[in-house]
Amino acid sequence: MKILPTFAIALAIIATTSPATAEEKVLNLYSARHYQTDEALYRNFTQKTGIRIKRLEAGDEALLERLRNEGRNSPADVILLVDAARLWKAQIEGLFQPVKSATLEARIPEYLRARDDGKGSEWFSFSTRARVIVRNKASVAASEVMNYEDLARASLKGKVCTRSGTHPYMLSLIGAMSEHLGEAKAEEWARGVVANFARSPRGGDTDQIKAVASGECGVALTNTYYLARLMRSTKPEDRAVADKVAAVMPNQSSWGTHVNVSGGAVARNAPNRDAAVRFLEYLASDEAQVYLADGNNEWPVVRSALTANPALESFGEFKTDKLPIASIGRSQITAAKIIDRAGWR
Ligand code: FE
Repeated sequence: MKILPTFAIALAIIATTSPATAEEKVLNLYSARHYQTDEALYRNFTQKTGIRIKRLEAGDEALLERLRNEGRNSPADVILLVDAARLWKAQIEGLFQPVKSATLEARIPEYLRARDDGKGSEWFSFSTRARVIVRNKASVAASEVMNYEDLARASLKGKVCTRSGTHPYMLSLIGAMSEHLGEAKAEEWARGVVANFARSPRGGDTDQIKAVASGECGVALTNTYYLARLMRSTKPEDRAVADKVAAVMPNQSSWGTHVNVSGGAVARNAPNRDAAVRFLEYLASDEAQVYLADGNNEWPVVRSALTANPALESFGEFKTDKLPIASIGRSQITAAKIIDRAGWR
């Protein structure tokens, strides 16, 4: 989620509190999420179940590296990560285990659950974000960027900014494009986008929004929560940035806007398996869904948990791409080849 330099990631790993007593029930949570509302989320689970959460927070890559190194001796029970590309990769590396839960099946839509047919391991989405186009209101008309395909149109020459194609957010989107268009057409599209670059890819999503607001770029791609964060910021300069740009929810008349997720799974060698399943079920409860979604301006996967969020409401009702989340994860292999050949670096 948060982009931190390597040394900061190391420091961000939180040493957990005092060791558990023999009778005390604990859950070891490895989380790439870190928001203020998460404190309330975890406290609430402990109050309900008596299970104490021992948390280890770090960036997605740092967490995965730690899990790999710990191997069979890992104390991890639950793993929370961000983006289908990363979750899928962790799954095929064998870091998750099968989960049988009628609650999770009932509450989370099927396309947002990802079962590995081979080993039966499964991960679940708990919040969603859309990857949208932002345009400079003064220089690019909404009609010019109705679809992701439009980013390759010759009329946008010198106006397109993106982060590196190697980032999971981009791999997932480009992978989804290849699922819809086929690999050859998706590559042709990627080449067109690269030919339209205003500058070589750099920075994160917020940097893209700021570059669109300043006029350096005409259009860019961002996850919705970065824009929502600027809209709801207490800093006037952030709100001024948000005012200069408009979001377009792409592909409304075709397959819908690309959506990605934050998700979780039970770790392969979870010492507290029952507590882990209970925690995932708790994350799918209305109460937890509100904390999860609001903490990062995302949409809950359980629709009944949707609460008022003025920034999210400003995006309006829109059609989302219902591509199975597992196939988005898997498609990163094709996406990586496409970005390589198209020079989307
Ligand atoms: Fe992010």
